[in-house]
Amino acid sequence: MTASTADLAGRFARLRPSASTDTQPPEHAVAFTLIAVVTAYGLLFLPTGIQLNYQVVSLAAALSAALLALTLLWSAAPRIATLGIPLGYIALAALLREAAGGAASGFGGLFLLPVLWLALTAGGRELAVILLAMGTAQALPLALIGGPAYPASGWRGAVVLTTVAAVTGLMVQRLSAESRRRTALLQEQTDSLTRVSAQLAAQNERLLELDRLKDEFVATASHELRTPLTSLSGYLEMSLDPAEGPLSPTRETHLRIAQRNADRLAALVDQLLFLARADSHPLALHRQPVDLGGILNEAAETARPAASAKNITLEVAADPLPEVLADRPQVLRVADNLVANAVKFTPDGGSVRLTARRDGDTAVLEVADTGLGIPRAEQSELFNRFFRGTNAIEKAIPGSGLGLAISQVIAEAHGGTIELESTAGAGSTFRLVLPLA
Ligand code: ADP
Repeated sequence: MTASTADLAGRFARLRPSASTDTQPPEHAVAFTLIAVVTAYGLLFLPTGIQLNYQVVSLAAALSAALLALTLLWSAAPRIATLGIPLGYIALAALLREAAGGAASGFGGLFLLPVLWLALTAGGRELAVILLAMGTAQALPLALIGGPAYPASGWRGAVVLTTVAAVTGLMVQRLSAESRRRTALLQEQTDSLTRVSAQLAAQNERLLELDRLKDEFVATASHELRTPLTSLSGYLEMSLDPAEGPLSPTRETHLRIAQRNADRLAALVDQLLFLARADSHPLALHRQPVDLGGILNEAAETARPAASAKNITLEVAADPLPEVLADRPQVLRVADNLVANAVKFTPDGGSVRLTARRDGDTAVLEVADTGLGIPRAEQSELFNRFFRGTNAIEKAIPGSGLGLAISQVIAEAHGGTIELESTAGAGSTFRLVLPLA
């Protein structure tokens, strides 16, 4: 192989659809060769009355077999196959034309085979070289042999055929390049989709792992935080027990402050763990028939000392109500929280009114106060975790900002809601609305 032929073969190989398949035959190569050879031979035996030259027919058969073998053995000698196959097609076309009587055979069209082959598998230069070879293969017998087998009019046929082959070749090449471009684009998109879905799967895996870690943390924290706190409260209570002996007033004050803070810490730990658990698992409800009036009275009793300390009137007015199928401790938790807030955010001398009534097929538990109220702009944020209103911040009213978030989780778990009506400076009304069983 000369340097320029090797170069051409190399370029040709590079121009094939996929560089990574250099040692593989182009797509459909074997099918193309089989169809081309069988069709060409089939045409030879058309009943046109032409006397076939069987010596040349046998030579063409051998050439066809060689072409097929070269296609099948592509990977053993890719460079030879790359240029050898189209050249073989040209030789086959020339031989078959010869076998069927030369220019008059009408077999000149067979020269389209190598052009189509190259248009599908190679670049523009390679196509030009083959068109040149094809033109030469037609022109040589015209020039060297001449009439009557190759009459002068054959020149026109050769030029027409070469022109049609060039146009067809170019069009096929464009179409196949476009289809390759689209396939590559599609492949790229598929690859990127595959990458994204792999990333999502990995992220999902990680989220599941985080979820598992969180569950583990909640379990550990429940134990590790609560146990020392319980012990702390127990010892503080024992220390404050008069049976343990007299305490100096200062020491008693210190111990009471420590006890209050231990209680606050226990409540905060409890709130945090409640929400952490609610995030990973739906709230498990132990439903039983619950008397909402009883709940209101209990919440009022819990809040009474704080209300009395601020001279707040705490009033309960519950209509007789059918029992609600609910988790009593959880509903009590909501009521306690709403009443504690009402007392906390109502200045001295104000009033808090607790009512329970039926409204259609719901039971409504209402806590209304004459307190600070909530600015309209803040009302939509009240149920967000750790949100504390300007009223709480400006007046340094203690709290965690978790009470309403927890209340909402409990209400929703019961299929209910918490509603709010409030005017800044005039007071607030919170309603727990629960479906009646
Ligand atoms: P915390 O009371 O611990 O701050 P909550 O979640 O119970 O947390 O309440 C969030 C915020 O909602 C409070 O900080 C306060 O600004 C506002 N809020 C709740 N209840 C009332 C109320 N009855 N009156 C005025 N503001 C309230």
